[in-house]
Amino acid sequence: MSMIVSREVRLASRPVGVPRPENFELVETKVPEPGAGQILVRNTWMSVDPYMRGRMDAGASYVEPFGVGHVLEGHAVGEVIASRSPGIPVGATVIHFAGWREHALLDAADATVLDVSIARPQDYLDGLGQTAFTAYLAVTEIARVRAGDVVFVSGAAGAVGSVAGQLAKKFGAARVIGSAGGPEKTRVLTEEFGFDVAIDYRAGSVADQLAAAAPDGIDVYIDNVGGDHLEAAIGALRMYGRAALVGMISGYNATDPVPGPVNLYDIVVKQLTLRGLLVVEHLDRAPAYAAAATRWLADGSLWTKQTVFDGIERAPEAFLGVLGGANTGKMLVRL
Ligand code: NAP
Repeated sequence: MSMIVSREVRLASRPVGVPRPENFELVETKVPEPGAGQILVRNTWMSVDPYMRGRMDAGASYVEPFGVGHVLEGHAVGEVIASRSPGIPVGATVIHFAGWREHALLDAADATVLDVSIARPQDYLDGLGQTAFTAYLAVTEIARVRAGDVVFVSGAAGAVGSVAGQLAKKFGAARVIGSAGGPEKTRVLTEEFGFDVAIDYRAGSVADQLAAAAPDGIDVYIDNVGGDHLEAAIGALRMYGRAALVGMISGYNATDPVPGPVNLYDIVVKQLTLRGLLVVEHLDRAPAYAAAATRWLADGSLWTKQTVFDGIERAPEAFLGVLGGANTGKMLVRL
């Protein structure tokens, strides 16, 4: 096999505030043949995730920052086109973390073979993947939704939020309220994702709309947004209420420190529990989730939606889109 020409997306410069197309660079590379124990993967689907914004900044977080001039990393699914690993044959579909490139040369140990007879390849980046697993952990482990709860989910039309709303119902919630930006997304929340009430946060105050949707308050809050949503939820939570803090996307592009909620004393008075979640700390439980979710996707009790951009050259646009709300459900790039 002659050397393959591939394209990859690199971080050209660190963004200040909202990322811009010039912060990314599409570069042509030549991919060598696999060495002993390696596989060559032609990527077919790439995940696009908001947390990548944090890795574009310098400075320590829970994951290393991306290096300027280096390829961006993320989950991708692809087909093995050359193999020098006895465990992974040519033709296998695998998932790995060396995404944002058309071809990936990997040690076989860094790839996991997927069963594409039980789910579509892209489902392993969505309903069976890390965002849906995050939603599962938030609902079951962190906020511990139980029968009769009134649950509020922010970022509800996105990958984590849309699954969190459905799983809250599955685990017994009596009423699930979701917030998203704009009338089309709020329609999708109630008509497709099964939320009982949808709030359009762009159309008015979150606190006022949440008070109208849940006049007696909420028991659980799943936070993907932070900011005004978190403040409204703290205000609406009932005695001993629980919140899973999953993400705070409203502040990811902030250039100044983000102000905190003004009502933190409510946490004392109502004896609330607010608990953060990092999915990477729970990966040992991901296979059990995927096995359950495979059944739920097959029987229709879990339903996902995907927003797909075609071509590696559109990956930066897809990323700017996921930060700005261009997606309903999971944002993916198809290669
Ligand atoms: P997503 O929700 O599919 O996409 C992001 C959405 O955020 C956009 O579609 C947009 O929807 C919304 N948004 C953007 N700016 C906003 C703002 N200022 N106010 C309110 N909403 C805003 O992304 P995802 O992958 O599922 O991630 C959702 C959240 O979970 C993110 O905060 C992410 O960082 C977090 N997360 C955390 C973990 C973990 O381990 N803790 C794992 C995965 C994801 P609208 O059109 O509705 O504004």
